[in-house]
Amino acid sequence: MRGFAMRRIGEVGWVTREKPRPGPYDAIIRTLAVGICTSDQHTVYDGPLGELRLIMGHEAVGEVAEVGSEVKDFQPGDRILVGAVTPDWRTLECQRGWHQHSGGMLGAFKFTTTKDGVFAEYFHVNDADMNLARLPEAIPLESAVMVADMVPTGLHGVELAEPAFGAAVCVIGIGPVGLMAVAGAALRGAGMIIAVGSRPVSVEAAKHYGATHILNYKEGDIAHQVAALTGEQGVDAAIVAGGEKGGQGLFQAIRMTRPGGTIANVAYFSTGDTLPIPRADWGLGMGHKTIKGGLMPAGRHKLETFLSLLEFGRLDPARLATHVFHGMENIEEAWHLMRAKPADLIKPVVIY
Ligand SMILES: [Zn+2]
Repeated sequence: MRGFAMRRIGEVGWVTREKPRPGPYDAIIRTLAVGICTSDQHTVYDGPLGELRLIMGHEAVGEVAEVGSEVKDFQPGDRILVGAVTPDWRTLECQRGWHQHSGGMLGAFKFTTTKDGVFAEYFHVNDADMNLARLPEAIPLESAVMVADMVPTGLHGVELAEPAFGAAVCVIGIGPVGLMAVAGAALRGAGMIIAVGSRPVSVEAAKHYGATHILNYKEGDIAHQVAALTGEQGVDAAIVAGGEKGGQGLFQAIRMTRPGGTIANVAYFSTGDTLPIPRADWGLGMGHKTIKGGLMPAGRHKLETFLSLLEFGRLDPARLATHVFHGMENIEEAWHLMRAKPADLIKPVVIY
């Protein structure tokens, strides 16, 4: 079978692989649609994980092609969603409540890091009964594929931030993840929702998803702008979904949060050894500001719960799919489009 892979740091291309085989609890999925993600581009071009030579891609919907002897709830032909994160559910980390870190720090993020990803004709999923989610018929593929990573990652920013009803929330970065964080803050009942971004296509989408204010870093220091909007109080919670370079997103989030507030990071800091904390704005280390960061939650129950937001009309991520390609071979063009980031792009999707 064919796949689109990292060849070495800074280089991608097509490769040929044996079709994967399932272990007793696993499934082999025939890919139906994939999303292109900047995380993979960090992996290839920044090289934080080294020279992997693995098939890229971790956002997919598909059809079950084959299941292992112990898989009970799924069978060939089932239409499913797979999370970007696929935990090993029989681990101590899962028993402790941290499935994202089964097998070690970030261990459940397997695609493209420890095994081939989904930019292939077929791919392997461990623990199929626990990691596949049934896809309701009514949800179109380009929306469903957003629930592999963009929806759970963006909404997890909100889960970490825990805004109370009426809370002031700022979302830093309004790429697809930040936009889902804006939508999630609105769903959770935030009052003022400030979105930080400058690209017109993202600004329009942020307003659509519930942003009450838009701030552009080109128009002055973001923390000062937030202070001005909030009567010098700062926000109750800041969700970091961008500003990876030099940890600037995190730095600004700590600055703009009021004492007792929460900073929730879902951005991927792929370079640098340390991240900045502004001393004075952190109350000289005593500001009662909580800094959290977390990998998206996954597993069948969680994914099916997220899918119900789409099924019942609470959330429609279709607007994120600004560029929809048809045919697997277009992964290459979509990949380079994501890297070039033209003005009208939020997220490219490829339907096989
Ligand atoms: Zn992703």
